[in-house]
Amino acid sequence: MECKFCSSNCQKAGRQKNGPQKFYCVHCKKYQQKEYQYCAYKPGINTMIPKLVCNSVGINSMARILQIAANTVSKRIRAIAASIMKPCIPLGRKSFEMDELRTYIRNKENQYWVAYALCSDTKQVVDFIVGKRSKRTLRIVVNNLLLSGVPTIKTDRLNIYRSLIPKDRHVSAAYNINHIERNNLNLRTHLKRLGRRTICYSKSFNMLCACLKIYFWYGA
Ligand SMILES: [Zn+2]
Repeated sequence: MECKFCSSNCQKAGRQKNGPQKFYCVHCKKYQQKEYQYCAYKPGINTMIPKLVCNSVGINSMARILQIAANTVSKRIRAIAASIMKPCIPLGRKSFEMDELRTYIRNKENQYWVAYALCSDTKQVVDFIVGKRSKRTLRIVVNNLLLSGVPTIKTDRLNIYRSLIPKDRHVSAAYNINHIERNNLNLRTHLKRLGRRTICYSKSFNMLCACLKIYFWYGA
């Protein structure tokens, strides 16, 4: 067998406790098997997971496709999300749109909102938060926008915004947040857990945040 590390020749070196043939490389002094049962460490798994997350594949379906355990999938999703940095809010852009998207965790009474902001020019999501539809939640995103000197924030007619955004930097009318409303539909199509009238939903708050983070910012 060819060594997986230095591609010189390996010699047979007994068997593992569970059966498969072991090999030993004299050159780099490493033991190895031709094939492993455990697929989670195969190269490429970690790049596949974010792609599947963004294409409406749930955790259990991902486990079936990649032939690894569902627990491993959710662990990896959390690890990948933790490694993603939030991008900076781009300077020199004229307007940003902000909206909330309703979803729930575990049961339909436990409602949550994904409040997020998007640059009208680049359509890039710059910030988001998951929480109740309250002043406290929305303030975090709004303050981030205001502090980075965003000239105008477009929102729907939710009353909370009026108290958070200064009048001269706020636009709220019926038809000016079309980009983000369209993006809401993308979100519901591309993330399985946000789909409506399906039996798919989020079981945990952290997982919902992690998936959103991957969807918005992975590879950006
Ligand atoms: Zn070797």
